[in-house]
Amino acid sequence: MSISVKCVKCGATLRVPDEAPGKKVRCASCQAVFVVPKPEAPAEPEPAAEPWQKFAKYVKIAPGFHDTAVRNDMRFQFVFKDKSSADEALGALPSEVLTALRRGDCWFRGPNKQGKYQLAWNKVELSIGQGKALMNRVVEAGGEIYEVIIE
Ligand SMILES: [Zn+2]
Repeated sequence: MSISVKCVKCGATLRVPDEAPGKKVRCASCQAVFVVPKPEAPAEPEPAAEPWQKFAKYVKIAPGFHDTAVRNDMRFQFVFKDKSSADEALGALPSEVLTALRRGDCWFRGPNKQGKYQLAWNKVELSIGQGKALMNRVVEAGGEIYEVIIE
């Protein structure tokens, strides 16, 4: 493999070996000797966005909370295309999250006006990290976040 580099003196394009950056080469056109510049370090990859962030506009998490902070007043509303996809998503949750949802106040569970299957809880006790994991699981399973308030 080779890379192309421009001569610093005459601008001619030279083909140089892959390992040439940092070493001297001689331009075939003008005989100038110059050091092949090292390629710029690739930019740091963007941290992968978590699935729940797709619905970030529906999620209110008061600033300043660490993921380990436990809240007992989380509010969640999710919508799924039907009951079976909701059951599938919730069935795969870690048991401590399922337990917290069962203990929470589930004030709505059923088809909504749009014909989707909606679930809503108040007063769920989880750490914020667990709450985010719950939202991720819902989104990965094809569910949508309708509203989440952690404050
Ligand atoms: Zn040259």
